[in-house]
Amino acid sequence: MEFEAWWLILLAVFFTLGWLAARVDIKHVLSDSKLLPRQYFEGLNHLLSDRTDKAVEVFVDLARNHSETVELQFALGHLFRRKGEIERAIRMHQKLLDRPELRPYDKQSAQYELALDFMKAGLFDRAEELFARLDETEFARAARRHLLDIYQQEKEWKKAIEVAQQLRDTSHTYQHEIAEFYCELANQAAIKSQPSEAHQYLQQALAEHRKCVRANLILGDLAAAEGRFEDAIECWLRIESQDHRFLPFAARKLLDAYDRLNRAEEGTALVRGFLATYPELDMLDVVYERIAATESGALAYDWLREELRRNPTMPGLVKLLDAQAAAAPPERKAELDVTLRLVHDATRGLSMYHCASCGFKARQYFWRCPACNDWESFLPARGQLKH
Ligand SMILES: [Zn+2]
Repeated sequence: MEFEAWWLILLAVFFTLGWLAARVDIKHVLSDSKLLPRQYFEGLNHLLSDRTDKAVEVFVDLARNHSETVELQFALGHLFRRKGEIERAIRMHQKLLDRPELRPYDKQSAQYELALDFMKAGLFDRAEELFARLDETEFARAARRHLLDIYQQEKEWKKAIEVAQQLRDTSHTYQHEIAEFYCELANQAAIKSQPSEAHQYLQQALAEHRKCVRANLILGDLAAAEGRFEDAIECWLRIESQDHRFLPFAARKLLDAYDRLNRAEEGTALVRGFLATYPELDMLDVVYERIAATESGALAYDWLREELRRNPTMPGLVKLLDAQAAAAPPERKAELDVTLRLVHDATRGLSMYHCASCGFKARQYFWRCPACNDWESFLPARGQLKH
């Protein structure tokens, strides 16, 4: 009996303690919610109902009357930037930065946000200065990524290399990008007639990324421009072991170099050999043009028909129709032109280069996609949609 009575007393004590704890919690929540101004809920309501402008009005008023609300000011600054009201965002973040009592973390955060505002406004110099000042802070990595963007937009390739090297880790080595930056530097040097600097940059590109096709393409161009055609051929031939899909990019250059060395037949044999090993459509074009130029149009046409019989492709057929139309008598030509136009329309995508990252299409090949800014994302074969 005594044992059961103790249990009852203990239960009663626990129940009372639980009730007290719940009361204290509820009181706390109630007092907290009373601390939040009515405008906060009003603004929240506007936001939830997709009335962003009204919400901003209310929150701006709230921030004005409660200057201690740092988080609210950050949120507003962010919102202004997103809405494209950059000047207001800049003012908001600048005002935050001017507050002497701001905690160091908030100060860095305001600096970072302000730098983003400047970047969006196109004021790269000011953005760069602020991002650079965040070097020793928690924002360092994010700031460096934006610096890399700025340097690429400003074509400051040396600075871009430096930042990319700081950013590299096991998940992203920046090998492709750094090699491309060196190629850009090489192009700048070549334009300024500084071939030896260009040469050095290209060697650095290859040291960074030995499969950098673009470096060998430019190295060959530099050698050819100096009349060193043997060297040029050697550079371009290296592309085969780097990535043979890029060989059509060098094919016409190779033919020209062989021609200048009076070894035209060797050149023709080389590109025909490439086509036999790697039946790329662009190589088909090169060989067709070559036969038409060195032998005759009729012979080139027969050769093309034979090639298509062995390896039938839609773009190959378009090429054949093109050749037919070019050689046709006037009365047949009009009829063939209509067919050609229809086939061209239906196969337009096959004559374009595609970006594997964003799907952007272009007639020209880009080492950096103009739509998504990815490097080496364009596929080397026209009409190809994925790697
Ligand atoms: Zn893209």
